[in-house]
Amino acid sequence: MATPSVEDYMKAIYRASQEAGQVSTQDIALQLAVSQPAVSKMLRRLVQMNLVEHTPYQGIELTEAGRKMAIEIVRHHRLLERYLVEALGYGWEQVHEEAERLEHHISEEFEQRIDLLMGHPQTCPHGDPIPTLEGQIAATVQTTLAQQKPGDFVIQRVSDRDAALLCYLKEQGLLPGTALKLEEREPFGGAFVVQVASKTVRIAPGAAAQIFVSETSGQ
Ligand SMILES: [Zn+2]
Ligand SMILES: [Zn+2]
Repeated sequence: MATPSVEDYMKAIYRASQEAGQVSTQDIALQLAVSQPAVSKMLRRLVQMNLVEHTPYQGIELTEAGRKMAIEIVRHHRLLERYLVEALGYGWEQVHEEAERLEHHISEEFEQRIDLLMGHPQTCPHGDPIPTLEGQIAATVQTTLAQQKPGDFVIQRVSDRDAALLCYLKEQGLLPGTALKLEEREPFGGAFVVQVASKTVRIAPGAAAQIFVSETSGQ
């Protein structure tokens, strides 16, 4: 990967704060695959630009201006993914990488035309919420299938970072919006056994940890 840009940093900080609350230099270094000194150097620049506040032992926080910038890129990214799948026929396992490149280059007009063409979508193909033009964004579901006991669930979103996982999930019909019944966990840390559309699927723990679900109240 090329040296991450200011926008890449802003998105990485935003993402880490969604997942973990408090964000450290190490989180960002891991996410962007750069050294911690490189992150520290960039953070000083971002503080000067008034995009980030960095207090030792308190972690890294986005300022209001920083949050706005990050959300704008997230909106580009998720709208682009939608466009690539629905209008250009890309596979859902291909679009994250492509959107990572394109998100920095589209104009506001291009963004609005995609939004209109796609009918103002609420989520990207992986189920992540698309921020509104005004910067409002729905809460991202953080509970995974791997954390659940038997019951009824709906897949809300899946991790978009692993193309092999996305291919597997598609084959098994495990897409956002799909209802599933978790029947049991096989003993000794084994597979999660689920019913999807009257088919039994055994999901490995590593995959279950990347499927985010919400519980459905029994009917
Ligand atoms: Zn993505
Ligand atoms: Zn996505």
